[in-house]
Formats: sequence, C-alpha cells, structure tokens
Amino acid sequence: MDDNLGKQCERCGEGTYKIADLNDEIHGELHCNKCGHFIKRLTNESATKMTETINDQSITKSLQLLRNGFKRDFAKYVYEDERITTLLMELSMEFVYANTPIVDDELQIELAQMFIESVSIEAR
Ligand SMILES: [Zn+2]
Repeated sequence: MDDNLGKQCERCGEGTYKIADLNDEIHGELHCNKCGHFIKRLTNESATKMTETINDQSITKSLQLLRNGFKRDFAKYVYEDERITTLLMELSMEFVYANTPIVDDELQIELAQMFIESVSIEAR
C-alpha cells in the first residue's frame, strides 16, 4: 500500500506531505508543508477500499450512537401509539382463538388482555 505521508511534494518539490489538520485526518488527505498542495494519503486501490470500509464502519458507529441515544424514546413512542394497542389486541384475540380451549367471549377477551399485559415493549 502506498502511503504519501512524508513524501516530497509533487508540485513545489521543496515541502513534504503532512497531516495539516483534523480535516486531513478525517478525509485521508495530506497537505504540502511548503505550498499547501494536497493529495490523497493512500493511493492504491486496496487503500481506497480500506478507506471505504472505514467510512462504512464509521457510518454504522454513528447510526449505533443515534440508536442508543433514541432507543428509549422510540420504545415509549411505540408503546404510547394507539395502533400498537389495537394491533396487540387483534393478535392476542387471534392467539386465544387458535390456541386456547376457551369459548366464552368475555373470558376470551379477558385472557387476551392478560396476554397483552404479559409482554412489554422496552429498549434493550
Ligand atoms: Zn509543495
């Protein structure tokens, strides 16, 4: 893998390529310490692929940070939405019909409600 860090500047021939600031660090670029000419730090194809992998990983990390920051809010949002109550009741009634021997309507509803209370929606 070709690393241009510390190499002689292609433009002025006097300076060498250095990591000038945080932007260089983030974007994988280098700047000449004499004329400011910039180039990609890593030049060959595998380096490009590596950089892409690192970018993918940092995107995933960013998404994970967002998920961690918002997961409790999301669980609360789902739990408080009326649609989830309706859906849980539908599913629970279906389950009671299909899997239990109870035929009395009132008891079916009561058991369905007990099933709903037995599950929880919360952030892990
Ligand atoms: Zn230069």
